[in-house]
Amino acid sequence: MSKIQVMDEVLANKIAAGEVVEKCMNVVKELVENAIDAEADEIKIELVDSGVKEIKVTDNGIGMDQEDAVLAFSRHATSKLKQEYDLFHIHSLGFRGEALPSIASVSNVTLKTSNGTTGTEVEIHGGKILSVNSSDLGKGTSILVKNLFYNTPVRLKYLKNLYTELSYISEYVNKMALSYPQIRFTFTNNEKVLLKTDGSGRLLKVINDIYGLSVTKKMIEINQENEDYHISGYISYPELQKSNRNAITLLVNGRVIRNLDIIRYIADSYHTYIPQDRYPIVVMKIEVDPILVDVNVHPTKMDIKFSKMDSLKDLIMQTITAKLESLTLIPDASLETKVEDHKTIISTVYTPNSQVEFNADEKEKEFQEFEKMTLDFEVHEKETPYEKKEEIVSSSPKKERIKKMYPVGLVHGTYIIAENEDGMYLIDQHAANERVNYEYYLRELSNPTPAVMDLLVPITLEFPNNEYLILKENFSLLEKLGIGYEEFGYLTLVIRSIPVWLTKANTEQAIKNIIDIIISKEDFQLDRFLDHIAATVACKASIKANDHIMQEDMEVLLERLRACENPFTCPHGRPTIITYSKYDLEKLFKRSM
Ligand code: ZN
Ligand code: ZN
Repeated sequence: MSKIQVMDEVLANKIAAGEVVEKCMNVVKELVENAIDAEADEIKIELVDSGVKEIKVTDNGIGMDQEDAVLAFSRHATSKLKQEYDLFHIHSLGFRGEALPSIASVSNVTLKTSNGTTGTEVEIHGGKILSVNSSDLGKGTSILVKNLFYNTPVRLKYLKNLYTELSYISEYVNKMALSYPQIRFTFTNNEKVLLKTDGSGRLLKVINDIYGLSVTKKMIEINQENEDYHISGYISYPELQKSNRNAITLLVNGRVIRNLDIIRYIADSYHTYIPQDRYPIVVMKIEVDPILVDVNVHPTKMDIKFSKMDSLKDLIMQTITAKLESLTLIPDASLETKVEDHKTIISTVYTPNSQVEFNADEKEKEFQEFEKMTLDFEVHEKETPYEKKEEIVSSSPKKERIKKMYPVGLVHGTYIIAENEDGMYLIDQHAANERVNYEYYLRELSNPTPAVMDLLVPITLEFPNNEYLILKENFSLLEKLGIGYEEFGYLTLVIRSIPVWLTKANTEQAIKNIIDIIISKEDFQLDRFLDHIAATVACKASIKANDHIMQEDMEVLLERLRACENPFTCPHGRPTIITYSKYDLEKLFKRSM
């Protein structure tokens, strides 16, 4: 190749680098995915200053001979290689194979590789090969990327602070570890271990390595299929919640993907079990015939479309709903479940005197104990194998999810104390009443022919122009709900009759709420609308905090709560009930050790 051609190529690589390498994470990603393609079962990721100074990825994969090692940094050679990848092999970086030359063009790279017979060391600065030597490394590859963007200061400026860069990388490495439990990952920054997995192939073990035991204990296994899809993995108890979707990991045929629809189905399956702006922790593997999958490759992420989405949606929602319905979900008040995440761990790296330390050995020991307990438990379970069998039941059976409780008294006019043979309970009277009312209103609202009642005194409502127009467009909704109305002149509505269920609430206020919801909803969906009405009206119609209710009222409320389909949370996802088990109390008072 002439000198000019070489220069052109360096320039082209630098330009391409601008597209595919924005963050240190992109470099880590490319190197790790190369290692996986090289069939490594051990991958070590070592960073200095979040990768800004140094990124080193070492694997024990098949390695390269000298010719390939040099070609790996040439765009022309690699773009030919690229065509050999089938669609599902194309990684999130998209410009697969071109990323390595791009990375090399904006950093100083040292590649050491050996295929077992020849060892090679290549030194590249700013895309130019400085030296090619023999090396003695054992089988595998190690790529060291130093001083990223040293020759493109503008890009360097766009790197976020060290903490943010590290959190991107950490999130990515976590997802890879979850995707490949059979690969042993070690991930360090400035010599501090951030993640270490054992390559044993057990997904729950990796979850433990990432989130810690308190989370692992609250994960539920799922495994279900229909004619199109097979889903498996773990979902969290509703009490484990995160404020963002990062803890939802989706794998399709073994690849990490992003799909906002699936995340929404998962979140919707937890509807009223957790607050609306919160998300569960989920690792879900989806197995599907690639023919049903359409991969849309972005430079920085992998988005995917499914041609039988409804089938997948049903499978996901039915599986999660059935799972949640089968559990007793009363949070144990004596145990604080802290969700350890990569942010907590990362903060240890840049916070001096941090109290939190990643301790791989301790995690290992805790997990082993936990596993032993679970195994013991499963042996007992096996005696009744019939009940263990999973079944998708969409109409929930009327079974008791909480044992009968006896009220003892009221604290702060807000929390009912109750007891039974298992322990002591605290019930939030508003939340509990809200749940009872919510399920009642939801049933009534879904009645296609609601019983209607004329109002003795019609309610007259006036609206500003813009609101009235939206309302007018939605008059059919009022009819569907059984609200009888009459237009009275311009901008005034007279409500003459209402559905009977509504008389239980403060009627005028409830009607106003309903109309407010109609007016303010942009993206209208009937079932969501009804749900919202049920929750809003239920809240308004329920006992408030600081209402001192009588013993009989407590008894009635607790019985009604027990009869609910989901007695554990209010429609907004807040807990209705927490418990101190008999055992907890004995332990807390040191009666038993
Ligand atoms: Zn409320
Ligand atoms: Zn609520």
